[in-house]
Amino acid sequence: MSYTPAASRYETMKYNRTGRSGLLLPAVSLGLWHNFGSVDVFDNGRAIVRRAFDRGITHFDLANNYGPEPGSAEENFGKILQKDFGGNLRDELIISSKAGYLMWPGPYGEWGSRKYLIASCNQSLKRMGLDYVDIFYSHRPDPNTPLEETMMALDSIVRQGKALYVGISNYRPDEAMRAIEILQELGTPCLIHQPKYSMFERWVEEGLLDVLEGHGVGCIPFSPLAQGMLTDRYLKGIPSDSRAAKSHGYLKTEEITENRLKQISQLNDIAASRGQSLAQMALSWLLKDHRITSVLIGASSVAQLDNNIDAISNLEYAPDELEAIEKVLKI
Ligand code: NDP
Repeated sequence: MSYTPAASRYETMKYNRTGRSGLLLPAVSLGLWHNFGSVDVFDNGRAIVRRAFDRGITHFDLANNYGPEPGSAEENFGKILQKDFGGNLRDELIISSKAGYLMWPGPYGEWGSRKYLIASCNQSLKRMGLDYVDIFYSHRPDPNTPLEETMMALDSIVRQGKALYVGISNYRPDEAMRAIEILQELGTPCLIHQPKYSMFERWVEEGLLDVLEGHGVGCIPFSPLAQGMLTDRYLKGIPSDSRAAKSHGYLKTEEITENRLKQISQLNDIAASRGQSLAQMALSWLLKDHRITSVLIGASSVAQLDNNIDAISNLEYAPDELEAIEKVLKI
């Protein structure tokens, strides 16, 4: 099953500049949080990564703890790289990883100390078989470690040649602003922020996007489909192969309430009137804002991936469509 990337891979994807940096990211990026662990089917994940690259997705997002088992998504991605992305293809990829959540026992296996971040970055590189990642993130702010220490660790990782750029994830507006300013002083500008943002989760609109734009930092929302709720996945019940049905899935059935289902069904109708799937509308609704660099999706199949990438063919919204969406989101 040898792989030759599609010659047409850069013809239809849209690439956006990440804040005020030199780096372009695809409007749709692929995350490996679910569906790429040791519990998943390796060849399915491999097919998704190949198809993503064939359609212009150059950015693949990982973290130390993705799996389950923690670390296994990085191991599997490393295997895919080794099997399919030899030669100079590494130079066409933007690979990110992160440290912040629990990874190993004891006092040095989570949060934001220099000790943890540098050790974890080294482990991630080893698991993926890489010399460097393109972006390394502090995965969450640590209330008990001076922010200066966490940011200095990111700066050191870049100076050691283990990452090209750094980012922050899950930082609130005030924390993000301080982190960005410290990184600026250190001479390693913050490239990007990765927050949770979708039609169903909108805290980012209350200050964070302004902070990022003001400082020239990009924004890559994670779980833009609300883990699958903003798709047609749950319109007719909970499919047995869905994230909500899996014991290791982070989407809990309790989150799929009657009210949510009412919203999902009405949003689905609005999407249909735009000639889009609900997933496509949820993604294009985020991408219509110029401050959004890329949407960071997950996919459990090649068909889902294809459907999501096609979101970029309709990013325009008429005022009455936006109003109709807002009305549903207030239910
Ligand atoms: P999404 O909100 O895109 O959810 C993905 C899930 O939605 C899929 O696994 C699939 O669920 C379903 N889905 C996707 N496309 C379709 C479609 N077209 N039709 C129907 N169902 C669809 O994102 P994730 O929650 O997976 O997060 C994406 C990435 O964001 C992660 O992989 C990770 O890289 C990053 N992330 C970062 C975090 C952080 O703290 N920084 C936290 C969480 C995620 P199903 O499996 O049921 O088919």
